[in-house]
Amino acid sequence: MNGDGGTERGPAPRRTVMVRGHAVGRDFVLIAGPCAVESEAQTLAAARAVAAAGAHMLRGGAYKPRTSPHDFQGLGEAGLAILAKAREETGLAVVTEVLDPRDIDKVGRVADMFQVGSRSMRNYPLLKELGHVDRPVLLKRGMSATLDEWLAAADYILSGGNEDVVLCERGIRTFETATRNTLDLSAVPAVKALSPLPVIVDPSHGTGRADLVRPLSLAAVAAGADGLLIEVHRDPPRALSDNGQQIEPAAFARLAREVKALRAHLEGVAP
Ligand code: PEP
Ligand code: MN
Repeated sequence: MNGDGGTERGPAPRRTVMVRGHAVGRDFVLIAGPCAVESEAQTLAAARAVAAAGAHMLRGGAYKPRTSPHDFQGLGEAGLAILAKAREETGLAVVTEVLDPRDIDKVGRVADMFQVGSRSMRNYPLLKELGHVDRPVLLKRGMSATLDEWLAAADYILSGGNEDVVLCERGIRTFETATRNTLDLSAVPAVKALSPLPVIVDPSHGTGRADLVRPLSLAAVAAGADGLLIEVHRDPPRALSDNGQQIEPAAFARLAREVKALRAHLEGVAP
């Protein structure tokens, strides 16, 4: 970890990653939005709702890494244009996935922070290229990656010269089938003991279940997460991807209030 990782004496010093004026790692961040940009109306509805609820960043995919090639792959450049419009209207920073190193310039014209998805955590040519960009990267944990492998993936970006990496725990594959993944909340304090990078949590992909997003979000806050990434859709059952895990705007607004109250409480009892 660039020589500034953890020491035997205690947790590593924290790093702050600036994303369009938001200091990730210093200030708690709420990143929310639909799994995929499906249309202008759907994206703007989600963007307006999450902005009104207090989110700091809009997250939506224009390029989607789908397990099946026959599933919706995203709107591509048209999706990027919609994200730019949503930022212009709401002021939210935009986080969106880049899948292919050849798309970095194109996606970078819109993204305030690139997302590298779980499936791409081991795409070393992509990570190397992102080491040379002047833009933060949200690096999701590979679904079968150990903490060491995840931090080594981050190091591909860091050692290229880009120090602005935010880690995102999004669940790992286990034998459990009741949930899509097993959200590993122990990763939050465990990684923070090893690395100065901010760590956020994605309970949407971490559970695959809308009904579990609220409890796992609150647990992530209690575990010390620097932020949350939550999928929000105006009509989850009709979403073109991840329709079992996206929550409605009203549920997100309620959760945002609860997260704020829990953080205030934890700050009050902090040693
Ligand atoms: C996503 O963020 O919509 C996504 C595909 O997530 P992950 O890479 O964690 O599966
Ligand atoms: Mn998704």
